[in-house]
Amino acid sequence: MHDRQQRTATLDPAGQSDWRELREQGHRMLDDMFDYLEGLGGKPQGPVWQPIPASVRQQFREALPRQAGSLAQTHQTFMQSILPYAAGNAHPGFMGWVQGGGTPVGMLAEMLAAGLNANVGGRDQIPLDVERQITHWMRELFGFPSEASGIFVTGASTANLIGVLVARRRMLGAEVRSHGVQNALPRLTAYTSTAAHGCVKQAMDVAGLGEDMLRRIPINPDGTIHLPSLNAHIAADRAAGLQPFAVIGNAGTVDMGAIDDLTALADIAQREQLFFHIDGAFGAMAMLAPDLAPRLAGIERADSIAFDFHKWTQVQYDAGFILVRDGALHLDTFAAQEKTYLERAERGMAAGSPWPCDYGPELSRGFRALKTWFTFKVYGAEKLGRMISHTCALARYLQQRVEAEPALELLAPASLNIVCFRLRPPAQASGMPAQATADTDTDEINRRLLVAIQESGIAAPSSTRINGHLTIRAAIFNHRSTQDNIDAMLDAALRFGSALSVAPSAAQSAAQSASPSESK
Ligand SMILES: *Cc1c(COP(=O)(O)O)cnc(C)c1O
Repeated sequence: MHDRQQRTATLDPAGQSDWRELREQGHRMLDDMFDYLEGLGGKPQGPVWQPIPASVRQQFREALPRQAGSLAQTHQTFMQSILPYAAGNAHPGFMGWVQGGGTPVGMLAEMLAAGLNANVGGRDQIPLDVERQITHWMRELFGFPSEASGIFVTGASTANLIGVLVARRRMLGAEVRSHGVQNALPRLTAYTSTAAHGCVKQAMDVAGLGEDMLRRIPINPDGTIHLPSLNAHIAADRAAGLQPFAVIGNAGTVDMGAIDDLTALADIAQREQLFFHIDGAFGAMAMLAPDLAPRLAGIERADSIAFDFHKWTQVQYDAGFILVRDGALHLDTFAAQEKTYLERAERGMAAGSPWPCDYGPELSRGFRALKTWFTFKVYGAEKLGRMISHTCALARYLQQRVEAEPALELLAPASLNIVCFRLRPPAQASGMPAQATADTDTDEINRRLLVAIQESGIAAPSSTRINGHLTIRAAIFNHRSTQDNIDAMLDAALRFGSALSVAPSAAQSAAQSASPSESK
């Protein structure tokens, strides 16, 4: 091939001077991201989130670019039209759902992983050992035996699915892999609480077992699974000729951060010979915090644990993990019997079996372990644990403030780092005789209040339902959040709330005129 042809075919810069230009542009891009991250801790803080103008959205409706474009210009588009309109979970005012904030170290590690472009499905390469290192650390953290296996997945949704598939394999034997579940009789049933994340139900669906076969057991007022109901349901299912096969405990529910009595669940699983899986999506990482870890007692007895590094431990998206006590069973659930194309060897690049692709459905995989490894190496488990404890302290502070405000009502106390509250029904708040304010009205006022807070850019809580009531839910996951962010969110809630109670449309304009910097 001619040199010239080669030069035009490759996607790398053509020569030294092009490389120099790329290098300079790359440094500018890196600096822009450092500026962004540094700015998140500064004052005044920009908006957490802002509504997206139609003109911005329009830029992402163009035809396939046929011709080369400029990196510098494309980066400018990123700075102007992408960066300001993300959900804002890196921002300290972000308190919605369950999301991590990321770290500068994770960002840099992600860049290194991208440069290396390792495909960690298999082969004898050290990135697999980095991933195995994380498995070692997690065995240590959760008190799991040396036979325990683990792999990175996108997130806890996939990790929970893998947990259910391993449990299914244990119950139905190797045949389930060739025959499927079409003829499986008796029908299998699994158990979790009504507070479980929706992905658990979905896992039953995807595993071919059926969502209805997931028995959703009522919860106690504190959000934990009601054990007598669990026992009764298992007994009733057995009496009806069904086959209970798994119990799924929650270590940190999405609504309230409740942790089931994991020791009791382990006892029940043992007695009933059920596979004991735990959805510890965020809560499992509380093991890093000495003041919280005792509340997870019993987690060391689980058959598998699903969790995310991208939530409380702030690793860049995505970084979910599944840890399985019986590594051989895990392997039997996924490893292919015939490996012609992916044949293994004692030496050479095909050595080092088993590979990650033997522990899950994915073959090509990114190097998620690297950013997680960097995060633990650079910050250390103790500092991560202190940060986790600190978010819980902020949640307790928020709870105190809510309790001190007559206009607000606490709907769920801060079990961990999540607080649920709402604006009281207007009649109650103003001390008027308790008149039946329709609950739908209170829901509607709180729904508007939530939108007003989000659109103000001051903070971004989300919502959920507690006992059927719509509630504002502040989940403090971001390591950058401070007491100031809590105060700003609550002050905004009170300000917009009082406007809403007077005239529902007034809050909208109050929110529009408030700028984030004015919130302090
Ligand atoms: C976030 C979460 C999930 C889903 O995890 P992803 O990482 O988003 O796939 C499942 N369960 C709980 C309790 C969660 O908090």
